[in-house]
Amino acid sequence: MSQYPCPQCQKTLVWNPSNIHRPFCSERCQQLDLGAWASGAYAIPGDELENDFSSALLESAEQQD
Ligand SMILES: [Zn+2]
Repeated sequence: MSQYPCPQCQKTLVWNPSNIHRPFCSERCQQLDLGAWASGAYAIPGDELENDFSSALLESAEQQD
């Protein structure tokens, strides 16, 4: 059986295809990881994309007027 560390808490896990929280050990670790992404704990270029989207919306609004 293959073992791997939970990406969130580093606990050693045994790979189990029936674990719905893979690759995490539990729902808690899965949620923590998603929360870290959502709160911007990782560097993501999300702001840039959002600004592009906003200005595109503004432009199309102006054209409709
Ligand atoms: Zn974990």
